[in-house]
Amino acid sequence: MKRMLAEMTTEEVAGIDKNLAIAMLPIAAHEQHGPHLPIGTDTYILNGVLEEFIKILPDDLPLVVTPSIPIGKSNEHMPFAGTLSFSYETLLGVVHDICKSLARHGFRKIAIFNAHGGNTDILTSLCRDLRDQLNVRVFVIDWWFTNFWADILAELQESPRDGVFHACELETSIMMHLRPELVNTDRMAPCFPPEQLRRNKYVTIFGPVTMGWLTPDLAPTGVIGDPTKASAEKGRRFVAFAAGRLVEIAREIAALENLG
Ligand SMILES: [Zn+2]
Repeated sequence: MKRMLAEMTTEEVAGIDKNLAIAMLPIAAHEQHGPHLPIGTDTYILNGVLEEFIKILPDDLPLVVTPSIPIGKSNEHMPFAGTLSFSYETLLGVVHDICKSLARHGFRKIAIFNAHGGNTDILTSLCRDLRDQLNVRVFVIDWWFTNFWADILAELQESPRDGVFHACELETSIMMHLRPELVNTDRMAPCFPPEQLRRNKYVTIFGPVTMGWLTPDLAPTGVIGDPTKASAEKGRRFVAFAAGRLVEIAREIAALENLG
């Protein structure tokens, strides 16, 4: 069963029952991930999870995946070489135009699958605008500022609470599983936000009071968390968990009625 838009012909796309189908738009980033992980980490992770998700996606779930957007809004990492970033306006425009194209072809439900925390705010505000402008239901599946990973982290996480944030136990584990040859295991070292932020009750990197930080404000090495607690086996389990969770989410989205 074809799941990737890129592999389909125009006639095949025209033949999809758009009242049932979900169009999934994956988006990641190209940004520094410390001295031990590559710039493309978020994109490798996104595509690795997607691949597993598509493998286990039941045939009765009508879902089509658009090409992944490999660049997001990553200006927090700009002080580090190699980071590519869209501006707020560009990212908004790119995602808006792809969703508009999908709506033009009749899709009524669009699920944006986001693998980079810097994109989250823009995507969540855009999904309401798209509902208003295009009369489509747009969902944002985000795993950074939600409890997406909570169940598996409760089981596997060995580092402290802020040990899973960026180039961390989670991301490093997944890269050790997906692309071990790209992980510089001899360069892995923990790096945590300043003590005051870790001790605070309100002004922390997890909120409830947030601030517009750049990565060097939190972590001179570009790592926020503890990659030394990572392993390929954890990575395999993280990917399997995420793929399964995406199937559950897709099922709930599919069950929602379309807008009139
Ligand atoms: Zn990342």
